[in-house]
Amino acid sequence: MQAAHIELASPDLIAKYEPVIGLEVHCQLATRTKIFCGCPAGFGAPPNTNVCPVCLALPGALPVLSREAVELAIRASVALNCKVNPVSQFARKNYFYPDSPKGYQISQYELPLSEHGSVDIIVEGHPKRIGVTRIHMEDDAGKSQHDGFRDSVRYTYVDLNRSGTPLIEIVSEPDMRTAEEAVAYFAEVKQALQFVGVSTCDMEKGHLRCDANVSVRIKGAEKFGIRAEVKNLNSFRFLKQAIEFEIARQVAIAESGGHMFQETRLFDPETGETVGMRSKEDAHDYRYFPEPDLVPLRVSEQWLAAVKSKMPELPAVKRRRFIEQYGLSEYDADVLTQNRAIGEYFDEVAAATKDPKTSANWVMGDLSALLNTAGKPIDESPVTAKNLGELLGLIASGELSGKLAKEVLGKMFESGDTALLIMEREGLRQISDSGALGKIVDEVIAANPKQVEQYRAGKTTVIGFLVGQVMKQSRGQANPAAVNDLLKSRLS
Ligand code: ADP
Ligand code: MG
Ligand code: ZN
Repeated sequence: MQAAHIELASPDLIAKYEPVIGLEVHCQLATRTKIFCGCPAGFGAPPNTNVCPVCLALPGALPVLSREAVELAIRASVALNCKVNPVSQFARKNYFYPDSPKGYQISQYELPLSEHGSVDIIVEGHPKRIGVTRIHMEDDAGKSQHDGFRDSVRYTYVDLNRSGTPLIEIVSEPDMRTAEEAVAYFAEVKQALQFVGVSTCDMEKGHLRCDANVSVRIKGAEKFGIRAEVKNLNSFRFLKQAIEFEIARQVAIAESGGHMFQETRLFDPETGETVGMRSKEDAHDYRYFPEPDLVPLRVSEQWLAAVKSKMPELPAVKRRRFIEQYGLSEYDADVLTQNRAIGEYFDEVAAATKDPKTSANWVMGDLSALLNTAGKPIDESPVTAKNLGELLGLIASGELSGKLAKEVLGKMFESGDTALLIMEREGLRQISDSGALGKIVDEVIAANPKQVEQYRAGKTTVIGFLVGQVMKQSRGQANPAAVNDLLKSRLS
């Protein structure tokens, strides 16, 4: 199946076509147990230790649906604006795979958990709504570990720890038209799922991956082209590369008069290319039928309401609130809702200071810089939101200059101590007292007769120089505003 040489279209040719893209996103739910048994769903245990008769598919073992898994899947549905069906149904998707001992996957087919959702994205300033067709629940298979050849025998080991791990699949409408839109959609989905605690979305561990369906059509054409599905993309970069490659490959085929056939392809991160895996003609017939060992899943209105009432604020809602309640710019609101932790941290600082703009600047500026350097996420910040709020309060009350505050923040970050404790210890306090400042101001006026004369002659900008001298004399501890006032009144 593998093409020896793949012809790619030039940008000029590509410009004649419009790509059509739909994504299938697979996400591992952050439950404690597997979906149909009580085995731990953790990562990293020794092979085949987190297993039981159910996830080993021993004869006679019966699945029991995890309530926690359903609750997380409902959360995901609400987060992605899907309508939860009152009744959904598990089905058997039959196929043989060495690491799938049942010989079928339990998934949802005709009656998925939820449908008709949407995700809003913004690409290069253009907002767009992407439809979410459906979200269904399913179990994951085990893992095969190919160990290469030993004594001329090829060994493959099967680890069934992952067998029965709960997943949701989120299927989008074919609404995206560029690789950038697809990446923005995937990022938005990831953010929403993380926010509401559905999944860690750790892409390196395979907790979030997606299949990209790509086709091209001549611009203006109504009918969709024939799609190829690129499987198992586990990074934003790979998703973008795979889509761009597919577009160029498919346009080249269309332009050379060849015909596309529906197929499944694999992305090779080494080459940045996709290679054919199987065509739809030899695609599986999964012989779906309703899972006889599980009753239909009923989600009552009360249950749905209870799950909704426990949901944290969604990223899009938080973003809007930050703009409306705090008067933040779109950009600031965006940065401060990148994840739930930073949003909650900022909320707390803003509540303490009653000055959202200043709070935003410090969280996004100095604090983020310190966190970046230390490689720490904000929920592990040695400076708590409360302590940062207190520091900003000291600036507002004139007890600390902005410059000193930066220095104090650095020390807070190192020690975890409060600003007041550090100021006490280091004798750092802004001098606003006019008695103490007046003395320094008088000294500076006496020492700089030339500048004083210039000021009095109308060149008022030299006051900046004189303020600077006072700041220097006070080792940065003078309150610049107070110094300014004192100088002006002494000189006039
Ligand atoms: P399958 O299991 O056969 O892949 P699904 O319905 O699960 O089918 O997913 C199909 C995905 O392909 C959806 O995301 C859908 O939006 C997308 N899609 C369907 N037709 C096209 C097309 N012509 N071009 C690009 N994407 C498409
Ligand atoms: Mg598919
Ligand atoms: Zn088990």
